[in-house]
Amino acid sequence: MTLDRAARERLVRALAEAMIEHADELTNLDQAIGDGDHGLNMKRGFEAVLATLPGLADKPLPEMLKAIGMTLVMKVGGASGPLVGTFFMELGKSLPEQPVRAELVMAMDKAINAVKARGRSEAGQKTLLDVLVPAQSVLAAGGDAKAIAAEAARAADRTTPMLAIRGRASFLGERSIGHMDPGSRSVSLLIAAAVATFEREANS
Ligand code: ADP
Ligand code: MG
Repeated sequence: MTLDRAARERLVRALAEAMIEHADELTNLDQAIGDGDHGLNMKRGFEAVLATLPGLADKPLPEMLKAIGMTLVMKVGGASGPLVGTFFMELGKSLPEQPVRAELVMAMDKAINAVKARGRSEAGQKTLLDVLVPAQSVLAAGGDAKAIAAEAARAADRTTPMLAIRGRASFLGERSIGHMDPGSRSVSLLIAAAVATFEREANS
């Protein structure tokens, strides 16, 4: 997989647009089982990322991902900033400049493990890991971009009946059941945006 400078810029814009366009929806989800700041957190973080363009896209892919992660860690106040930021930073640390699929799978594993360590969390606790882990399974099993995005969307839906065991929603106990996890929705939107960009590159 090779992303030239223009493609890297398109990737950053697609990720940021996904968060900015869905800020209200994400906030509504967080109002149900959190403190209602998730949409604003992600929007603020990705607006800060956009502000580092065009220089950001001049960097090679690994450096660009690290820089996105650092901006998110620094600019987002909520739990999601350090977690999503750690994900991007670790992905950048582990990926070569032109990764083949196996290298992407390995880097994703490392990035997901870093999120688990940072959040002291595992899949099954109604957090963004409940989208990252199943999407990674489809990637590792050889699924194509569409299959990965479809699984991410389904996985976000599957958080609705779950009981929250980590994060603010866990304070609600059983009342966390029946609402989609906001962070899971964000990650599914980010995956959909990334996949759409890669598909466009592959077809161009
Ligand atoms: P805060 O919870 O600090 O208000 P946000 O509302 O921005 O932060 O983000 C909430 C999201 O962060 C949750 O929906 C969940 O997906 C994710 N999250 C929270 N705590 C953890 C954790 N310990 N491990 C993994 N993800 C977490
Ligand atoms: Mg919140």
